[in-house]
Formats: sequence, C-alpha cells, structure tokens
Amino acid sequence: KLHNTILELKGNIRVFCRVRPLLPDEICSTEGNIFSYPTSMEAYGRDIDLAQSSQKHSFTFDKVFTPEASQEEIFVEISQLVQSALDGYKVCIFAYGQTGSGKTYTMMGRPGHPKEKGLIPRSLEQIFQAKQSQQPQGWKYEMQVSMLEIYNETIRDLLSSNRLSSEATRPENGTPGKQYTIKHDTNGNTHISDLTVVDVQSIEEVEFLLNQAANSRSMGKTQMNEQSSRSHFVFTLRIYGVNESTDQQIQGILNLIDLAGSERLSKSGSTGDRLKETQAINKSLSSLSDVIFALAKKEDHVPFRNSKLTYLLQPCLGGDSKTLMFVNISPDPTSAGESLCSLRFASRVN
Ligand code: ADP
Ligand code: MG
Repeated sequence: KLHNTILELKGNIRVFCRVRPLLPDEICSTEGNIFSYPTSMEAYGRDIDLAQSSQKHSFTFDKVFTPEASQEEIFVEISQLVQSALDGYKVCIFAYGQTGSGKTYTMMGRPGHPKEKGLIPRSLEQIFQAKQSQQPQGWKYEMQVSMLEIYNETIRDLLSSNRLSSEATRPENGTPGKQYTIKHDTNGNTHISDLTVVDVQSIEEVEFLLNQAANSRSMGKTQMNEQSSRSHFVFTLRIYGVNESTDQQIQGILNLIDLAGSERLSKSGSTGDRLKETQAINKSLSSLSDVIFALAKKEDHVPFRNSKLTYLLQPCLGGDSKTLMFVNISPDPTSAGESLCSLRFASRVN
C-alpha cells in the first residue's frame, strides 16, 4: 500500500479534494467504485484512497468531499475565506483538474439550477450582504471587478467591449493593439494595462458581467477547439472598505480561478497549435504548483515569474494572503489514470 501524505503545509495554503458524482450517461463499469474514504463516516474527512489495478493509493488533504457533498456544504468551508477578503486579505481560490472533473461546476454551478450555484455566486451574495449589513457600523465598501483568461501565456480581457468583434481576426493574441502588461507596485497592487476594470454597486451588475464574460469565452469555444478548457479563467473582485466613524481602511482581493484542464494530451498526436497549447498549460500548471509549494515550504526563492498566471497573482499568493486549491476528481474508472495524476499533483508526490 502506497501512502502519499500531503506536505505539512505552513501558513495559509490549503488543498481540498472534491470527487463529483457519476453523471447519468457514465455507465458504471464492472470495476465499480475506485474511490474510498477511510475517515469520512459522517462529515467529510481528510483521506481518500484510489484503487487501481490491485494497488491502493492513499492521499490526505485538508478536506475530502465525497460525491454527496452539496454546493452549500462546500461553501460552508469557503465562507471564512470570503470573510477574509472583506477583512482586507488577499485570497485566491483555484479549481484544478482534468476537463469534465467539475471545476466549472464548483466555481459557477449549474446554469438554471439556483440550488446548485457555485462558489462565485455564493461568495458574491456573502460580500454584498456584508456591504449592506455593515453600513450601520460606518463601513462603506467599493467594489471593482475584472475578468480575464490566460490562453497560451497571453492575457485576454473578457470584459472588453471590442473583444467580440476582434475575436475572429486574432484569436491567438488577445485584443489587437492591447498590451495587458502586468505591473506590481510597491503597495502590492497589481495594474494590468488596458484591462477593463468595472466599478460595481450590486450583485446584479456582477452577474451581468459574468454572463458577458461567459459569452466572450464560449464564442471562443466554437471557433477555437473548446478553448475554454484550454485557458485559465481569472475572476477578480477588489474590495475597498472605509469606516467613516473610525477612519479604518481595508483593501481586500478575492481571486477565483477556474484553471485549464490538467489532462495530459498524447504527446505524439499533438502538433502545431495543439502542441503549443499543451506546452503552455503544462508550463503554467507546473509553475503554479512550484509556487504554491515553495510558499508552503517557506523557501527563499519563489519562482513567480515562470508563468503569466503566477506572475499575475504574485501579490495574492505570498505574505499573509490566503490560498485554497480544489482538486476536482472524476469518479469514472476510465479516468483513474488522470485522477491519480491530479491527486499526486495536489499532494506534490511524484
Ligand atoms: P470542468 O469544468 O472541470 O470541465 P464541469 O464543471 O463542466 O467540468 O463538469 C462536467 C459535468 O459534470 C457538468 O455537466 C457538470 O454539471 C457535472 N458536474 C460536475 N460536478 C458535479 C457535482 N458535484 N454534482 C453534479 N454534477 C456535477
Ligand atoms: Mg470547465
């Protein structure tokens, strides 16, 4: 029996594993359940075992959610982090996993099923409720939203008004003429030139922008070979709070990131654009893992600059910021190989 225990993660980095249920069209093979959960008798535990060809692989995470876990139960574990953003911390929540493992379900939920709302809409509800309820104590909040995707190491603005028209002409290079240069100032603020940043007053406004971004992405999807699973989606909410009676000020950031699919594409079959895409995804996902584990181990050198994603999020990953990574797993026995890779990625055992 192999036992892979997650590194003793220091500070503010946590890893949650979530196994989604089998979907109606996934025929249960004779192998049956490949996952078991040694410690999750009642609530959710920390351990998960994957049985694969007579070998058992055991992993431990900060939390393991079985397929029964509802969106609401997941959010209960997240809401403290959302509160941290309201208290002035920088927070990043990632969804990692192969395409089809439930990343977008975890982040956004199922469209048209309000009970299955994901973490982004639930976080927004919490934040806008706090904005209202803390008014009597003198708190005034201002919020700004930006949404971008990183495709082939190139930033693309999902809220740019001229993005849709320019899409067809230069799919590889973001919006023509725009630079999207990332700069961090000494106060730990990030500025991306030409990126659309929208002041928002209400949850409805953010939902409208989320729809706009989704349209912007799916437009790319038909034209560019399911690009949405080949790019990282980064939702950023900046929160500026001022207390008018005490003069206290806070600046929090909540980043919610739906990562590109982690599946290994067959090397032989990938050529040209597909190969370039695969290399870009591999590079940025392994850079993310390098950064998170360098931070967790409190190493002196953290290789933020090795990818656009880690460089973009640099101020939100180190210091006293808080990071949570979801490892999304498909229960389908035919995905066992990919699932094992994801579990190993997240527990950093090779
Ligand atoms: P990904 O974004 O990782 O490619 P999706 O989030 O699109 O994967 O999930 C793939 C499919 O599985 C979708 O149809 C989604 O609605 C469904 N799904 C994912 N997670 C769950 C879950 N926890 N409960 C029910 N359905 C889920
Ligand atoms: Mg998705």
